[in-house]
Amino acid sequence: MVSALDIPGGARAVARCDALGQGPYTDEPDMLFRSYLSRAHAAALDALRGWMEEAGMTVRLDPAANLIGRYEGATPDAPALLIGSHIDSVRDAGRYDGPLGVMLGIECVAALNAAGRRLPFAIEILAFGDEEGSRFPASMLCSRAVAGTLGDQSLDVADRNGIGLAAALEAFPASGRLAEAARAPGTSIAFLEAHIEQGPVLEAEGLALGVVTGIAAQLRFQARISGRAGHAGTTAMPLRRDALTAAAEMVLAVERIAREGPADLVATVGRMTVAPGAVNVVPGRVDFSIDVRSGDETVRNDAALAIHAALDMIAETRGVTLEIEQVQDLAASPCDPALMDLLDEAVASVGQPVRRLVSGAGHDAMVMAALCPTAMLFIRCAGGISHNPAESVEPEDVELALRAMLGFIDRLGEKHA
Ligand SMILES: [Zn+2]
Repeated sequence: MVSALDIPGGARAVARCDALGQGPYTDEPDMLFRSYLSRAHAAALDALRGWMEEAGMTVRLDPAANLIGRYEGATPDAPALLIGSHIDSVRDAGRYDGPLGVMLGIECVAALNAAGRRLPFAIEILAFGDEEGSRFPASMLCSRAVAGTLGDQSLDVADRNGIGLAAALEAFPASGRLAEAARAPGTSIAFLEAHIEQGPVLEAEGLALGVVTGIAAQLRFQARISGRAGHAGTTAMPLRRDALTAAAEMVLAVERIAREGPADLVATVGRMTVAPGAVNVVPGRVDFSIDVRSGDETVRNDAALAIHAALDMIAETRGVTLEIEQVQDLAASPCDPALMDLLDEAVASVGQPVRRLVSGAGHDAMVMAALCPTAMLFIRCAGGISHNPAESVEPEDVELALRAMLGFIDRLGEKHA
């Protein structure tokens, strides 16, 4: 039998994610679903606690049920470099979205501890309990708690069984309040998150690693087209004000505008409802969503304006009315330029080309930017597939990520020496 210490850290990080992919670490017998404050979450915390302790950390559970392992620096009580990601999952999830970043953090500390090394700062590994909104209709609850950016209304939510967030927390071993997990100012020097890319860019370019420049700015709109419902058999074509054919043109306009922009501009119509929705009635009303993202807020805003103008024109030509309401505006969250440079150097030092890219998806790092400077390392995943059991990473890539993270820690140590 191979002992854990004979396996390179990257492969061990992957193997541990795999181990958490089955019972008792899932709430469902035949798929991976680990939701916040569930039995599966508690079981995962037990496993993680053991791995953190084995790596040389002292471990605590904070009031938001985040597991935090601390590896002291050269002087006690020094501010900490935070490394982490989330351990909750979507329903029928893959095994690496989230946990891989936590396992890599543990491996960083295990390597430093094995070499007897202490840095000018402490290192804390954070396993956030909720990022996906896995149980309650609110996401990134745990990083928001740590960053101290929770609004009061965030707490007034219930799961699908009617159990409130506060009650669920109380029933969990942590038994605290989310807001009590906020870190004191000055105790965190940076936050580093490693995460699978969840997109196809690195694989397409034959690269194992990418340095994230920031998380895309996001705008969401809800649009309503009002035409005129009519009998499908008797309403002659010239007399129609068909809301769905207008919507079809609008969807294509959204796609065209995004395609004409820079590579990181994306726009999506992901949800549409047609009323009255009968086979023999000309559609009178269509509601649809529009999601626009880019790493650059100006690019995003310009695209949104162009979309508005194009849709207004289509509505006018087709004699339907269009109402568009903005429902979400998330600012871009840039990673720290100095930390990006360090991560670039660290990636180059393990023999990998430096590729910078924007994250189209949201991550805990975006929230943690309110607390301290952040850096993010992306790892290639097969086919860009994620939020799916087919999610897959190569242990060799994860090993490269581990070495790059250790190189980053070294360089950060030199800066703080
Ligand atoms: Zn994730």
